[in-house]
Amino acid sequence: MNVPPLISPAALAERVAAGKKVLLMMDYDGTLVPIAPVPGRARPGERLLKTLAQLGRRPEYTLAVLSGRRLEELRELLPVPGLYLAGVHGAVISRPDGESVPLFNEADISGAIARLHDLARARIGNRPGFLLENKHLALAIHYRLAEPEAAEEVLASFLRESEKLRRQSGLVLLRGKEVLEVRPPGLHKGKPLAWLKNNFPGRLAVFLGDDTTDEDAFQLLKKENGLGVLISEHPRPSSAALRLKSPCEVGQFLELLAFAR
Ligand SMILES: [Mg+2]
Repeated sequence: MNVPPLISPAALAERVAAGKKVLLMMDYDGTLVPIAPVPGRARPGERLLKTLAQLGRRPEYTLAVLSGRRLEELRELLPVPGLYLAGVHGAVISRPDGESVPLFNEADISGAIARLHDLARARIGNRPGFLLENKHLALAIHYRLAEPEAAEEVLASFLRESEKLRRQSGLVLLRGKEVLEVRPPGLHKGKPLAWLKNNFPGRLAVFLGDDTTDEDAFQLLKKENGLGVLISEHPRPSSAALRLKSPCEVGQFLELLAFAR
């Protein structure tokens, strides 16, 4: 991995617009909207929704949001026509007409996830600041608002006690920004990205993301002449090709594309 160089929103817009036909894919939290103390508060502003709606009306752009969130949440957060939405890292993708296509057909692991959920809940006990999310194919333990020491303690004991069950059910761990996720290894954003690329061949594929969960998508784009853009205030190693600083810069970039003549 190298450290992707910073680009300005204007220079990126110019580069993407040169693609003529573009498949523009974006992560949600930390990319389209700033990360909020609790996921429920990370709501898009009116201006962003208008920009996305305007972009969706332009025939040269196909828009998709690929997120770790559940599909129902994404639909509620982004009531934008013309948008493809991939939830739970691409377990399922929803077309603009509302039809959903499952992309993940491995054996049912919701039983194992439910047991891990119970285990995590027991480890957390009555400590404040934790949020557990059972997504049936994945479990997320958010600890943004927890005391760092309590977070460390809870995660360590959860990892210890869940080790056997994770191994038996073939689940892997992924650490994101103050969230620990347990999920099957094949469940990642590379899946919906590949599906979209196959459905829109010949388009310049662009993906914007900010977290470790976005690296699978960046890697795939690197191999296939796409353009990965890391959203990060500070330089860091990534498989993305370029870097924007913040969701605010992402907003500027999208506006430049949406309202270009
Ligand atoms: Mg993110």
